[in-house]
Amino acid sequence: MLLAVCAMAHPAGAQTADLVLYNGKIATVDENFRIVEAVAIAGDRIIGTGSNTEMKKLAGTKARLIDLKGKTVLPGLIDSHVHSVSASLHEFDHRIPEMETVADVLKYVHSRAGALPDGQWIVVRQVFITRLRDQRFPTREELDQAAPRNPVMFATGPDASVNSLALKLSGIDKNFKITDGAPGRIERDPVTGEPTGILRSCSRFIKVVNPGREPTPEDRRNRLKELLADYNSVGLTSIADRDAEDGDVELYRQLKDRGELTCRVFISLGVNAQMPMEQIEARMAATAANPLHRYDNMLWLRGIKVYLDGGMLTGSAYMLKPWGVSKVYSIDDPNYRGMRYIEPGKLYSIARTAMKNNLQPTAHSVGDGAVEALVDAYEEVNNELPVAKHRPCISHSNFMTLRAIQKMGRLGVVADLQPAWLWLDGATLIKQFGYDRLAYFQPYKSLFENKVVAGGGSDHMQKIGGFRSVNPYNPFLGMWITLTRQPRWTDQTLHAEQRITREQAIRLYTINNAYLTFEEKEKGSIEKGKLADLIVLDRDILTCPADEVKNIGVEQTYLGGKLIYQRQ
Ligand SMILES: [Zn+2]
Repeated sequence: MLLAVCAMAHPAGAQTADLVLYNGKIATVDENFRIVEAVAIAGDRIIGTGSNTEMKKLAGTKARLIDLKGKTVLPGLIDSHVHSVSASLHEFDHRIPEMETVADVLKYVHSRAGALPDGQWIVVRQVFITRLRDQRFPTREELDQAAPRNPVMFATGPDASVNSLALKLSGIDKNFKITDGAPGRIERDPVTGEPTGILRSCSRFIKVVNPGREPTPEDRRNRLKELLADYNSVGLTSIADRDAEDGDVELYRQLKDRGELTCRVFISLGVNAQMPMEQIEARMAATAANPLHRYDNMLWLRGIKVYLDGGMLTGSAYMLKPWGVSKVYSIDDPNYRGMRYIEPGKLYSIARTAMKNNLQPTAHSVGDGAVEALVDAYEEVNNELPVAKHRPCISHSNFMTLRAIQKMGRLGVVADLQPAWLWLDGATLIKQFGYDRLAYFQPYKSLFENKVVAGGGSDHMQKIGGFRSVNPYNPFLGMWITLTRQPRWTDQTLHAEQRITREQAIRLYTINNAYLTFEEKEKGSIEKGKLADLIVLDRDILTCPADEVKNIGVEQTYLGGKLIYQRQ
């Protein structure tokens, strides 16, 4: 009798669910953004979505039925730009405070001078001056005062400010010249010719010795696991590491083999574009031959990343028009347009070689000059080899032009952008460039209109913690800023006409990011056949006041049908 009932409930061929979430508001993020009540899961896959009654019918006898009590559910979120391994180790030696002013920086340097023996290096990395309220580097003299007996390096992006002892130990004096042929500029006092302590794009000459404890392999695994668990707590179930070193790849592989990877990881391997082309080709061929280049939904080595220009936080993004003379960015040349690190011919060769090896190329391209150069390189490759199926990518893509956007749409070029930067840095950028020149700064609406698939990411590189990290990786912060475009420290909106809808904001962190990593058939929406990655929210992202979106909390996170995070 029991058998007969089962046979009736589950006609031959239909799958049986072992988990059914029902009575929810489930945003499937399918093509029509359909909302359903329930989802049925078998193993790691979604086997159906629909009404409570329909989905309960799929439940097997031992299935767990979970009443969502009206809660909103989204697909597991995806961050398309992180540097998780180094970020997880950033505070391995000691906790580093948040720094909002030069005084905060000097206080921290002074405290380190007290904690370390004389002569040991004090290094402050990536505390961007454009994010300090003072908007300047600490000076050589200030650093001398804060730490007279320790060499100090305050490094942001490609630039650094150092104290007298650091200059001395590095052999950088009045007569020092850059002779290695690579880019760089030592700032000097116009009267005496002495270095001011500010080094542009040449911190490679600073002979810094890392003063911190070295993590053991076990420490490295534990820190990364801790970070991935924190990602899960803000709703992330997938990440794209955009510049992994060989050791990082190995660490991800170890976690995967131990069954300890709690985020799906797509890897763009870092390639040093300054190497000779033969070496670059060899590195790409080796990457394509790596067993991790075969698809696996937990770990996939499928791309490469190079650096095309500098950054907007350090006044070195490569722009189409001059940056303009600026005290904040220490720019005194009115024709200065930023730093470009790869010449056109080589950029083309790198892009072409990557795609020939079935590797998605991406380049760090912040300024509109860099974005256009990269799009042009992809277009040139497209003349002999259709690029659309390789989904060549632009990382950051902050300053854009309509011309670049339209060309990207035509060629099938994708982009990973960092919405939180608009919030963090918008005020400084308005001051530097003026409002009008920012018409295509993070132009989300134009990207959607021109059918460019763009994804949201954080560029997480330091610390663990969704809001305290640099850059903050809480994806709800990212979604929120695309709705408001309201930078901090100002009451001005930054081109409100580029705001997008909530549905689109959600797409940035789900299906679009899945497309960026060639996985839109596997994940990124709650649809039959896809991986059962989903999150339960503490409020309704589709109807709550816009300003609350950044504070949305995650109650449960499921990865492949398994509960991996439960809010306490
Ligand atoms: Zn990055």
